Amino acid sequence: MKKILIIYTGGTIGMIQDPVTSRLLSFDFDHLLDEIPELNKFKCQLDTFSFENPIDSSNVDPDIWIKLAEIIQNKYNKYDGFVILHGTDTMAYSASALSFMLQGLNKPVIFTGSQLPIGMIRTDGKENLITAIEIAGSYQGDLPLVNEVAIYFENELHRGNRTIKVNAAHFNAFSSPNYPTLAKVGIYMHYDHNALLPFIKSELKVNKEFCQDVGILKLFPGMTPAYFEAIINIKGLKGLIIETYGSGNAPNNEWFVEGIKNAHEKEILMVNITQCNQGFVEQGRYQTSEVFNIYGVVSGLDLTTEAALVKMMMILTLDYPIEKKKEIFLEDWAGELTLSSPYDKPE
Ligand code: ASP
Repeated sequence: MKKILIIYTGGTIGMIQDPVTSRLLSFDFDHLLDEIPELNKFKCQLDTFSFENPIDSSNVDPDIWIKLAEIIQNKYNKYDGFVILHGTDTMAYSASALSFMLQGLNKPVIFTGSQLPIGMIRTDGKENLITAIEIAGSYQGDLPLVNEVAIYFENELHRGNRTIKVNAAHFNAFSSPNYPTLAKVGIYMHYDHNALLPFIKSELKVNKEFCQDVGILKLFPGMTPAYFEAIINIKGLKGLIIETYGSGNAPNNEWFVEGIKNAHEKEILMVNITQCNQGFVEQGRYQTSEVFNIYGVVSGLDLTTEAALVKMMMILTLDYPIEKKKEIFLEDWAGELTLSSPYDKPE
């Protein structure tokens, strides 16, 4: 019998409607099985672990990631799979973080949540939770089908560090535009075994160091030099994600080029991520991205901003020269980036 640990952090999913007052109340996860009787039909052992003070995921920070990673680390040998109930707003950041923190993961860690509380009649939470549990308990013989951190939402399983929240109103809130869906769920569950990370027997090691001296600069037409300079001159700034246009382009006027040059001289780790949801950065394709090649900005390829930010926070804690940190940025840690351009490959 498989053992699954459900970790409840907070978010919309964890609310039920008081039958008398109709108010939304926080759900008592100790009584999960009473509230969702369908869960009794699972032929697996379900245990729950609830945060003492459940949070809206807008309040998530690296301490929460560390807390989650430690829960999994401490319970790793006792359980076959983990389901993390989390608010949708920052789920992609947390899933990216856990995917990088849990090195050598050999068990499913499935994030899910919902757009409507679990106690509402039209909730998407029940299906999301039930299927996430099923995925977390899916093994072929001794080997789990999913050896990675993934997000299950509205009939689709996505790699956590490839996922972005794309919809604030619809049930299909998540997408991984630059990577195939890991599993599609209908009457049957279709896993894409070529897309899933392979099982490689290894010891779990947990990386818990983050540097928060980072920023994200989203370019926009009309940005003033004052705004740009205020960002790159933030005291103590060590890393900057630059969200650029299209395939990695930016203005090539004098003040912008000068600012990038100064940031380079100050050894700020800069990474170029496209504002587009799909496609990737190709520095030098246009003249308007040449500045980034000249001043050592890392091409973020097809990384999501969420994954790039967390990866940056972790790399900045390493005691290496900046050039080595840039190399490490482009290493594949947990299937988060595509190293070669899809256009280099024959159709
Ligand atoms: N604000 C909520 C959260 O992220 C939304 C949700 O749970 O979907 O915690």
